[in-house]
Amino acid sequence: MRFLSNAHTHTTYCDGKSTIRETIAAAKALCFVSLGFSSHGDQGFDPAYSMADGRQERYVSELRAFQAEELTANEAPRLWVGVEEDALTPARQKKENRRVLDYVIGSTHYLVKDHHGQPIAVDGDPEALKAYVRTEIDGDGLEMARRYYAIQVASLLETPPAIIGHFDLVRKYALSHSLFDPSGFAYRRIALDALERAFPCGAVLEVNTGAMARGTMDSPYPTLELLGAWKEMGGRATLTSDCHDASKLDFGFEAALRLLAKAGYHSVERLGRDHSLWETERLTLLKA
Ligand SMILES: [Zn+2]
Ligand SMILES: [Zn+2]
Repeated sequence: MRFLSNAHTHTTYCDGKSTIRETIAAAKALCFVSLGFSSHGDQGFDPAYSMADGRQERYVSELRAFQAEELTANEAPRLWVGVEEDALTPARQKKENRRVLDYVIGSTHYLVKDHHGQPIAVDGDPEALKAYVRTEIDGDGLEMARRYYAIQVASLLETPPAIIGHFDLVRKYALSHSLFDPSGFAYRRIALDALERAFPCGAVLEVNTGAMARGTMDSPYPTLELLGAWKEMGGRATLTSDCHDASKLDFGFEAALRLLAKAGYHSVERLGRDHSLWETERLTLLKA
């Protein structure tokens, strides 16, 4: 089977390489039935990685125009207008996002907004992250992971999004920069505990192939263990490419579908073709 949708798509309004028009063309070429846009929402402290200075309003209005055009012509893919919202986004902006958008991806990137004038992200400059852990957390990488998940779980429960973005992004530089052992029991227990605490937010968990597309990871976020645990809790999952380049819109989807099947899923959620945000697709043709 092929998965003909993607809910996690960046554009030139943030750090994506492709325009909205180029991405829609790529989705049409792949025969996608639906496509959601999710540039980094305005979070008020890292303008290089967000739609600061009124860009978010322009992004929404351009997308609404495309959406109206496609709906009038009754053409696929069905477009959905969202943002990827960081956990540290101010509450007022989070409220506004839920008022004006079709959906929100709730993602956690930052540990702090301002450390000597710079935000510290777990997927940003790894040397800055390492220095932060050394000077502010006594070099304790597991404590960093604990803090990361505490920020994430609090945000998911306080302002539930439709989708949980790259749940275990904190693994990104864990091995390469000797922060913690991501396969060790101590870390895995922290991550599993956080996933369980986040469950009541009711969001769909994404299987995110973005780091595979960029060549920095060879498997998606989150791990097979976390995906299996989410399934056991009764959670739903979707598949996304965290697309920053329209030529990689469905990168790694086949491998990720196999991972879902291996984790015990019999179905996967995709953005709807009609009025409902989600529709469920069965994974019957896959072998784990
Ligand atoms: Zn992200
Ligand atoms: Zn993203």
